[in-house]
Amino acid sequence: MDEVKTIRTNSPEETLRLGSRLAENLHEGDIVALVGDLGSGKTVFVKGMAVGLGIEDPLYVNSPSFVILKEYPGAKNLYHFDVYRLDLKGFCETLDYEKYFYGKGITVIEWADKIETLLPEEHIKIKISYGLEDERIFQVFAKGEKYRKAAAEL
Ligand code: ADP
Ligand code: MG
Repeated sequence: MDEVKTIRTNSPEETLRLGSRLAENLHEGDIVALVGDLGSGKTVFVKGMAVGLGIEDPLYVNSPSFVILKEYPGAKNLYHFDVYRLDLKGFCETLDYEKYFYGKGITVIEWADKIETLLPEEHIKIKISYGLEDERIFQVFAKGEKYRKAAAEL
């Protein structure tokens, strides 16, 4: 995948805004893969995406660790996966993921590296790592023209 850019945020609010900006550049059917340690800010980023999509009550967006998938209806639907507790086999057996990956909404996946081989070839991948204190570093990768464009506009 091509690394498109690196963006740093210094607060949860900045990460919310980053997620919101990305979501505004996405279309139905798009896939966003989030990779990063516990507490790096994946869920905060997804909340921001929900804000950008005009989803009501984005504050109710939280880690769906126990349910694997939450669907948020909006002008564009958001499918929020968290596969922390599953391995590849468990994920395949637990739900009909293709319905979502190739469906109408925007899909975002926390811990996406665990199911990387199942992802459509073209997608955006964001690796989040810790900087000092509240700094978080977002490395944005893209495969496919529309994703490169969406990432470049961030
Ligand atoms: P993850 O889903 O990756 O496990 P969360 O998004 O649930 O992580 O949590 C991130 C935590 O880090 C929150 O407690 C948040 O307040 C804190 N935080 C501090 N600085 C930032 C930042 N720059 N961006 C996002 N979260 C931050
Ligand atoms: Mg999370």
